Amino acid sequence: MKSVVRMEHVCKDYLLGEQTVRALNDITLAIEPGVFLAISGPSGSGKTTMLNLMGCIDRPSSGSIYINDESVADKSANELADLRAHSIGFIFQTFNLLPVLSAAENVEYPLLRRKDVSAEERKQRVAYFLDIVGLARYSNNRPNQLSGGQRQRVAIARALAIKPAIVLADEPTANLDKRTGREILRLMKKINQRLGTTFIFSTHDQKVIDHADRLVQFEDGRIRAFGIRDVDNNWRLARVDYPDDNLPDNAE
Ligand code: ADP
Ligand code: MG
Repeated sequence: MKSVVRMEHVCKDYLLGEQTVRALNDITLAIEPGVFLAISGPSGSGKTTMLNLMGCIDRPSSGSIYINDESVADKSANELADLRAHSIGFIFQTFNLLPVLSAAENVEYPLLRRKDVSAEERKQRVAYFLDIVGLARYSNNRPNQLSGGQRQRVAIARALAIKPAIVLADEPTANLDKRTGREILRLMKKINQRLGTTFIFSTHDQKVIDHADRLVQFEDGRIRAFGIRDVDNNWRLARVDYPDDNLPDNAE
C-alpha cells in the first residue's frame, strides 16, 4: 500500500555532554495519505524528534525513512531541501513568521525556492490560501499586527502554499487559548477534508486528540499505542507491548 511516510526501525540518539539520550527507540510505522493524525505523548516523549525526522529536517541515527515511498537516506542536504519545498509544509508552536514581512509575503516565502512556480502563480496561490484561512483582508498586515490565532492561520496558509503532500504541525495550538486552538484545529480539519492534504500534528492535549482520526501514542521514545476511529467515532486502541515492560525500573 502507498504511504506518505514510512519508518522502519528508526532510532534517534542525541549526545548530551558525555551521555547519549535515545529520543526515538525502534520506531516502525506507515502513514496513509489523507489522514488527520495526532501524535500524542507527554513532554520529552519524542514527538518533536519524530516530526523533525518525518520533515527531513534531521536524520535518524539508524533505521530507514521513506517519504512518498522513496528512501531519503541517500539524499544530499540540497535534495532534502527540494523534497521539503515540494512535499512538506510546516506549522510550529510559535508560528515562526518573519516579522518584517507582511502576511502575504510570509505565505509567498516558501514558494520563492520553487522555480517551477511563476510569479503570477505565486500571487494567485497567496491570495487563494489567505482566503482559505479567512485572512484575505489582512494580507498587508505584519505579524505584530495580527492576533495569535491569525498568525497561526498565516502559518497554515504558508504551509499549504507549496501544495504539499504532508503538513507537519508541532503542537500547533499550544500557544493559543482554548477557543482559538479549537478554531485552528477545525480549520486544519476542513482543509484536510477539502484538499485531501495529510496532516500530522503533535499534542499533549486530550481535547486536541479528539479532532484526529488516527492516533500514535508516544512514551519514552517508543510507540505505546496506535489508534483508529471506529464507525461510532470511538477510539479503537491497539497497545504495543515490549519485552522489558514487566521488568522493575531498576533492572538493567
Ligand atoms: P517532545 O517533543 O515529546 O517533548 P522531544 O522530541 O523534544 O520530545 O525530546 C525527546 C527526548 O530527546 C528528550 O529526552 C529530550 O530532552 C531529548 N532531546 C531533544 N532534542 C535534543 C537535542 N537537540 N539534544 C539533546 N537532547 C535532545
Ligand atoms: Mg516537542
